Amino acid sequence: SQGVHSFSMQILSGIPEIRTALRDLRGDCNVGLVPTMGALHAGHYSLVQAARQRCGVVVASIFVNPTQFAPNEDFSRYPRTLEEDCRILEAEGVDMVFTPTADMMYPPNASTFVEVAGVSERLDGASRPGHFRGVATVVAKLFHIVQPEFAFFGQKDAAQVAVLRQMVRDLNLPVELVVCPIVREPDGLAMSSRNRYLSADERRQALVLFRALEVGRTLAEQGEHRAANLLQAMTGTLQQEPAIRMDYAAVVDPDTLLPLEDVRSGALLAVAAYVGSTRLIDNILLPPSS
Ligand code: AMP
Repeated sequence: SQGVHSFSMQILSGIPEIRTALRDLRGDCNVGLVPTMGALHAGHYSLVQAARQRCGVVVASIFVNPTQFAPNEDFSRYPRTLEEDCRILEAEGVDMVFTPTADMMYPPNASTFVEVAGVSERLDGASRPGHFRGVATVVAKLFHIVQPEFAFFGQKDAAQVAVLRQMVRDLNLPVELVVCPIVREPDGLAMSSRNRYLSADERRQALVLFRALEVGRTLAEQGEHRAANLLQAMTGTLQQEPAIRMDYAAVVDPDTLLPLEDVRSGALLAVAAYVGSTRLIDNILLPPSS
């Protein structure tokens, strides 16, 4: 039945309203924030579960943030499934969902942005100029509105994690970032709200991203420590699927996102590719080896 479900979880759009509700709810509890753009899947649930474990109060936000999309990107057709998302969040034990509108977050006269220079121009930031300025700005705003002790993010967006860690350090934000592992489909495809754009053929083609990462990881486990050789193997694997268009393959320092020559001190293997018109990303962290 549509629209008759009533929630016991609080769902609030207004910024003053959520501030007031949190003032009443937080008491001595730690507040955990899980920022999302909605169209929730098991990757998001894992963040909520991590928050539930660590925090007495769990707040999820659902906001498709216009400032992190370029004009040619998928902002207007990004999947929006608010009712279903709220049912899931309530079942996962979320206390409060924050669902602001774009006008509330960005009144017409808003002119302040957070720019994390350097790291924001690498990997996805190189392919999507301005993307991380939008991400850093909206996350800083969410932190100021919710004032969480902990905030939960997915390793799926590895460059986002690097940008946000740098922002928290640089601005002394009183929040601890908790980064949760990538949740995958049984066949290895990293879960993503954008997977719903894929046709059956594209869904198959998309597996090459994880395959390329696994080729890199296997080589490293066999003792190959030269980043250039891992990169060549990853790129070669991506090229075996001619239907996709590689955006980047990279072997980088996970904090700075700068290219590495040697992976023995740990490395981020990261790939991005267009499958049809859908841009997908994936990555694997290589731990330091002896
Ligand atoms: P999004 O709604 O795509 O902005 O993602 C919200 C949060 O969920 C971000 O911190 C993402 O990194 C995280 N996330 C998205 N997909 C996954 C996944 N497959 N595994 C773990 N976390 C994820």
